[in-house]
Amino acid sequence: MREIVPPISAIVRNDQAAIQEQYQRNVVPSYGRFPLAFSHGCGSEIWDVGGRRYLDFATGIAVCCLGHANAEITQALAEQSQKLMHVSNLYYTQPGGQLAEEIVKRIGPGKVFFCNSGAEADEGLYKVARKFGHDEGRFEILTAFNSFHGRTLAGISATGQEKVKKGFEPLVPGFRHIPYNDLEAAKAAISPATAAIFIEGIQGESGVTPATVEYLLGLRKLCDEKKLLLLMDAVQCGHFRTGRYQSFQRILEGIPEAANFLPDGISMAKALGGGFPIGAFWVRQPYADLLGAGTHGTTFGGNALGCAVALKIISVIERDGLIENIRAIGDRLKGALTTLMHSYPQIIKEVRGLGLMIGLEFQPRIPALAGSDKATSLQVINRLHEAGLLTVPSGMQTVRLLPAYNLKQNEADEGFSIIQNVVSKLAS
Ligand SMILES: *Cc1c(COP(=O)(O)O)cnc(C)c1O
Repeated sequence: MREIVPPISAIVRNDQAAIQEQYQRNVVPSYGRFPLAFSHGCGSEIWDVGGRRYLDFATGIAVCCLGHANAEITQALAEQSQKLMHVSNLYYTQPGGQLAEEIVKRIGPGKVFFCNSGAEADEGLYKVARKFGHDEGRFEILTAFNSFHGRTLAGISATGQEKVKKGFEPLVPGFRHIPYNDLEAAKAAISPATAAIFIEGIQGESGVTPATVEYLLGLRKLCDEKKLLLLMDAVQCGHFRTGRYQSFQRILEGIPEAANFLPDGISMAKALGGGFPIGAFWVRQPYADLLGAGTHGTTFGGNALGCAVALKIISVIERDGLIENIRAIGDRLKGALTTLMHSYPQIIKEVRGLGLMIGLEFQPRIPALAGSDKATSLQVINRLHEAGLLTVPSGMQTVRLLPAYNLKQNEADEGFSIIQNVVSKLAS
């Protein structure tokens, strides 16, 4: 289907400085924004208010999984909004049940709760864990250092990074952090109060670090032995991003012992709505009914509009073979970047990731960047912006690529050559 490029409106003449100034006067300054204001996009291309085109490997932080202004998403939004957008969770709608079924089908026996964001999906899993351990006085959830679980109070308590907690103490009790990919540390950390272990399949906000096979299988065994829930935050790495529905399915591919691997709960959001805000968690049987009537809720969660959009996205991904596209383009891009690393080992330290979630870790002391005290990742990203490519920082040293699932090979090549140019200039 052809994507529609909206005409450039008169607002384009409203320059970026005026927009920025309006934010400064009226918007809480909790974000360090890049000095870019966008007006419209089409697929993996996006235009700023001055009319400059960029290739988008940021996709609103792993959200716009079918690119911008996707005609079928627009159509699903229009059609559903002409019928019903929202009725609340006092009632049933057809898209809600259908979307839950599509998610259950792709993970395993269990049930789904719908909400509006990643942090809220994670919050639901904390409540599942609390309810699970409650009668035995267990409430503690172990999470990993360098994890990210959102910005609510429980989210920053769960997140294993000091910078998100600072100034907001006292934190929500019951969270303790363990080193990621370290099974022995997880074993040693379990206390009589522990109810769950909660990890990302690929840590997204501190450098793009996938879990190892041994870690996932070891945690499953450990949780079974100690009667703990194994919970996974798939807000960023889930929903097809790695070229399987869930990142653990990709990580564990071809491992015979992993054939029956399933966590007990999975949170998701970001790509689920492709830009429409929707989150969800899946919880496995026999825990799927732990949150009974009246124990959890949210006004907007699972509304007909969001669910209709999410259903359309799943059907397009499967109809258009986008899972294969994610794997093919992602693997080629990662391969090309790895070759680039071998050409410039003094600039690129490591290339990590799976599918279309790729992290480029830069060396700590690059002479060309020594003049600024800004993080290496931000300095590289600014240079990529100047060259016409959007990417996302992941910690101080890593640049993250999170393109749309329908990225075309020529677009991947264009993005790569922009990165190659920036890297070669850093080396000269
Ligand atoms: C983005 C993210 C969240 C938080 O999602 P929000 O929608 O911003 O609340 C939680 N966990 C992970 C792994 C994420 O990447």
